[in-house]
Amino acid sequence: MTEFTTARPFAHEDVSHWDLETDVAVVGFGASGASAAIEAAAAGARTTIFEMGSGSGGASALSGGEIYVGGGTDVQQAAGFDDSVEALEAYLLAAGGPDADAAKVGLYARESLNHFQWLKDQGVPYKGTFVPGKIIEPETDDTLIWSGSEEAWPFSEQAKPAPRGHVIQHMGWGGGRKLVDILEAKARELGVDVRCDARVLSLVVDRSGAVTGLVVKIDNKPLFVRATRGVVLCTGGFCMNQDMIRRYAPEALRLSDPIGENDNGSGILMGMGVGGDAIHMDQFFTTCPWIMPPSLVKGIMVNQRGQRFINEDCYHGRVSRTMIDQPGDRIYLLADNAIFERPIDLARIEIAAVGETWEEVEQELGMPEGTLAATVNTFNRYAAEGRDPIFHKHPQWLKVLDDGPFVALELNFRDSYFSFFTLGGLSTLPTGEVLDSAGKPVSGLFAAGRATSGLPRWGHGYSSGMSLADCTFFGRQAGRQAAASADALVAAAE
Ligand SMILES: Cc1cc2nc3c(=O)[nH]c(=O)nc-3n(C[C@H](O)[C@H](O)[C@H](O)COP(=O)(O)OP(=O)(O)OC[C@H]3O[C@@H](n4cnc5c(N)ncnc54)[C@H](O)[C@@H]3O)c2cc1C
Repeated sequence: MTEFTTARPFAHEDVSHWDLETDVAVVGFGASGASAAIEAAAAGARTTIFEMGSGSGGASALSGGEIYVGGGTDVQQAAGFDDSVEALEAYLLAAGGPDADAAKVGLYARESLNHFQWLKDQGVPYKGTFVPGKIIEPETDDTLIWSGSEEAWPFSEQAKPAPRGHVIQHMGWGGGRKLVDILEAKARELGVDVRCDARVLSLVVDRSGAVTGLVVKIDNKPLFVRATRGVVLCTGGFCMNQDMIRRYAPEALRLSDPIGENDNGSGILMGMGVGGDAIHMDQFFTTCPWIMPPSLVKGIMVNQRGQRFINEDCYHGRVSRTMIDQPGDRIYLLADNAIFERPIDLARIEIAAVGETWEEVEQELGMPEGTLAATVNTFNRYAAEGRDPIFHKHPQWLKVLDDGPFVALELNFRDSYFSFFTLGGLSTLPTGEVLDSAGKPVSGLFAAGRATSGLPRWGHGYSSGMSLADCTFFGRQAGRQAAASADALVAAAE
């Protein structure tokens, strides 16, 4: 019996007959797959989606449905924020880290307003109201929030701050299901052929290296699918593939809460198997929801040596990611009586020590004398002057921690809830074309979403909404580009 593997493509010349034929084959029916399919079908291509689950969704349907959009949306304007394409671009470049994809960032910044309109045109509702303060997702059906590190150092110096987390109108957390349902309805309306319980096993590649189709398992049988214009991989990331985590992102082995649906890395492996380059595979987003309640942001974080390591007013994910860079397996969040409130249960953060003085807390934690207490004294001395010359925490979050009793809350990587998903993936052009290690497109192969390394590609810079922004926008690009590919490209290889 023929064996099919994700890591090795099936030879085109060994296909005895094709069971199905389509123009564009989209693999995965989350936000990126749905967006790709909508655009491919709208461009007139026969489009088929293959989804291994029993319905659409993926991580996208589990998400908050928050999308990072800016440049001066009507929602931003109504809330009194004056955003610009330049400020959005500057923020995304900073958030993308040392190897931000300037081409994708530039295109997204310029097209952000049009993309927001496109989302609305698909039927995605936005109430148009703003919730101030530091939150993770609105508890209400409001639709604009601060969702990153825009107001925090160093980002505040690199880009004019504005809130850009545009959340689908939905009561409470978790609007992602509604977002995917809306995109699915649109795809079906456009005639996209949706095949669920259909796991793609392998790509099919011809002698020239062009992808000509795929092998999919339906009803326990492998079917050969000819994709005349291209295959678009929208299979999500690999946070649920332990072998890939071990190999590519071992720092994430310290975390026990991968989030997603079927983030098994199969699309990345299939792409690599036909010569696609995979980049920034060590990068991942992580967060422990320690900012709830937000009064705790006025506390300070120290590592096991009693040293501070970041301005705590950054995006909770940036602070959480930086925790993992610290020595040891736990971090302490220090608060005084004035700001202390119990963290939400979800975070699994416990009290590790209490004391009438910071010296007592230090002693109870077993730290050498003069370590943690010295850190707090230094912080307090400057906070009293309304400044933080070491980490530049914004004055609005500075408070002298002098109102005893004092507490050290423990976040540890074994018990606390550090959710994570991966950011590395196939290297693509803004058009979604998958590149090989020489920087040449792999003919007939496209990808989008967390199967690629896109706008969000640096765990220390991730901001909420950046993944779905990338999935929906670059999913659309990939679908359009695949639909426009000349049939002749692959026909020539037959
Ligand atoms: C709880 C939670 C909240 C989040 N909130 C937000 C948020 O508000 N904003 C934001 O930007 N990001 C958020 N994220 C992250 C974001 O949801 C994901 O990064 C994004 O949805 C990934 O979309 P995707 O299309 O790449 O993959 P997915 O949505 O995961 O879709 C991939 C699909 O491919 C299918 N698949 C995989 N392999 C195969 C195969 N071999 N054959 C066939 N099908 C296959 C999977 O079953 C899946 O349905 C959140 C994530 C979680 C889990």
